[in-house]
Amino acid sequence: MVYGAIEAGGTKFVCAVGDEKGHIIESIQLPTKTPDETMPSVIDFFKRYELKALGIGSFGPVDVNKESLTYGNITSTPKPGWRDFPFARTMEQALKIPIGFNTDVNAAALGELTHGAAKGLGSCLYITVGTGIGGGAVVRNNMLQGLSHPEMGHILVRRLPSDSYIGKCPYHGDCLEGLAAGPAIEERWGKKGADLAGQPEVWELEAYYLAQALMQYILILSPEKIILGGGVMKQSQVFPLIREKLNELNNGYIALPELADFIVPPGLGDQAGITGALMLALAAE
Ligand code: ADP
Ligand code: ZN
Repeated sequence: MVYGAIEAGGTKFVCAVGDEKGHIIESIQLPTKTPDETMPSVIDFFKRYELKALGIGSFGPVDVNKESLTYGNITSTPKPGWRDFPFARTMEQALKIPIGFNTDVNAAALGELTHGAAKGLGSCLYITVGTGIGGGAVVRNNMLQGLSHPEMGHILVRRLPSDSYIGKCPYHGDCLEGLAAGPAIEERWGKKGADLAGQPEVWELEAYYLAQALMQYILILSPEKIILGGGVMKQSQVFPLIREKLNELNNGYIALPELADFIVPPGLGDQAGITGALMLALAAE
């Protein structure tokens, strides 16, 4: 039996077919244009298979409340054409199979908990630091959900007094995402993150903000592992800096595991999201 999975990002869609063990049999990537342009190719890809269920991990914000009339929709995105797009319903009507639906980062957290860096544990967080900052949380195979899904990228952090950068979040200015996501790095330093690898002050500041965020997530959610993915985290020199600053912030208060095992890159690499979407399909069946 095979299952379908979609990792829907702001720049690209990954569509995959795989089995219950998380093995990917075939996958394709498509650019995220408008729904009218992108969705027919997505549907054609899956129609070639006899799927048991489909899992979708989507960029957000999305409506994940099963009781809601707009469940399965992308909601307030500024991305042209995608606002209020009924994502889950479109796929359900096209394929006539059960659909699992959640955020891209909740899916990635689920993927990492079942098959990745947090395998065997009861809970983990998956944080992406890319075009935006987002976080997903899984506790015993349940994705954290309440009024909506968590929005961990928009928490407030204490500013470094010498940092005068105004911040890039359209809603909050200098929230975490506004200070530390890829576009903020680029605007503050005048170059793309990938071209700033040799400038230690960039990554010291990045770690200063990310460590504060992790400290707050740890205090509130007490995860057993924190996985940091996304384009910015390809700068692997940031990991030890974050661990060092987190250690200072914690100041011995919470008994944390060895930080090198606790704050880690994705065990599934770039496949965390799509593997998690496959697990969402299994859960929807
Ligand atoms: P998205 O968030 O759109 O899914 P990514 O996770 O790749 O995609 O994030 C893109 C952001 O990450 C961009 O702002 C980009 O400049 C930054 N980025 C990508 N690769 C690197 C890298 N190697 N080092 C630092 N920043 C990077
Ligand atoms: Zn914000």
